[in-house]
Amino acid sequence: WLGVRLELWAACVLLATGVCIVLTPSSAANPAVAGLLLTYTLSFTGTMNWMVRSFVLAEGYLTSYERIEFYASTPPESRLGAPAPDNWPAHGELSLEGLTIGYRPDLPPALMDITCRIPAGKRVGIVGRSGSGKSTLILALGRLLEPSSGHIEIDGVNTSSLTLEALRSAITVVPQEPVLFSGKLRDTLDPFKSASDSEIMTALQRVELDRFVAELPGGLQAVVQEGGANFSCGQRQLLCLARALLRESKVIVLDEATANIDVETDFAIQRTIRREFAQATVLVVAHRLGTVIDSDLMMVLDSGKLSEFGAPEQLLSSPDSALSGFVRELQQGAA
Ligand code: ATP
Ligand code: MG
Repeated sequence: WLGVRLELWAACVLLATGVCIVLTPSSAANPAVAGLLLTYTLSFTGTMNWMVRSFVLAEGYLTSYERIEFYASTPPESRLGAPAPDNWPAHGELSLEGLTIGYRPDLPPALMDITCRIPAGKRVGIVGRSGSGKSTLILALGRLLEPSSGHIEIDGVNTSSLTLEALRSAITVVPQEPVLFSGKLRDTLDPFKSASDSEIMTALQRVELDRFVAELPGGLQAVVQEGGANFSCGQRQLLCLARALLRESKVIVLDEATANIDVETDFAIQRTIRREFAQATVLVVAHRLGTVIDSDLMMVLDSGKLSEFGAPEQLLSSPDSALSGFVRELQQGAA
């Protein structure tokens, strides 16, 4: 728009110069000066174009500088901590002790004093209204947010005492917006190149994506665009689950996608979890109650607090429980 405005200005200047030359009385007119004036005014348009281009280029370079400054001033994550004990976690028992977490010191905590124990090998459904702190709990498990008080233990080891590398290589998190690395599909599934092609295909078969991948041009060598943009949200979650299968983690955390995911894919994800992760402790943040109501345990969060925790049958036996309220809402919505 600035370019168009400058072009208009240049055209106006050219017009004004031409009119002045034409209106100048012939006694005062100097053809050489008139010619020089017109030549300079004509080049004015080109100069304006060059100015605009330089301005846009400078703006682009400054954006890069701004981006670099942003990353350079981001505080780095701590590299301190103990290495993980051998074969940890062997069972996957989780224990949350008075966990309180805020996004920033000037904001109220997003999770407040959460205390509960999740036995090894259980499938836990985490439900709650939007903004109740479900995703925050997931971030806390991987220590993407450090607790302001309290801690999380996995198999009796305080996760805050470990290095981030040790902790994050022991658990698998499939976030609400799963991101794949751009490059080849094979590298996304097995970034450390520790599995063979047949093992990867078996993992894909277990998440019911083998046929889809076989039909992709190049199969496992198919291109994954920036952030996995050429896959649907549900497919990205299933690919992340395949990666989890290859890693054989004892603690799996899945934050269900809220949007762009059809019911069939949703159930495929839950089927995979039930069938393939029977030996692992699985935490599923659910936005559709129907997908997790058959879990071993249910955790209900309300405004950052743990309002209910227990077996679904036990919570549903009380008509006043929050879980019973969610089920009633679901039934009314379906009616
Ligand atoms: P949803 O069901 O919509 O995914 P949720 O239960 O996962 O919601 P969280 O994302 O955990 O909710 O958010 C919990 C609280 O933390 C909310 O009050 C939210 O406003 C706040 N919050 C979330 N992300 C940030 C952030 N990056 N910075 C500051 N506050 C945040
Ligand atoms: Mg969320």
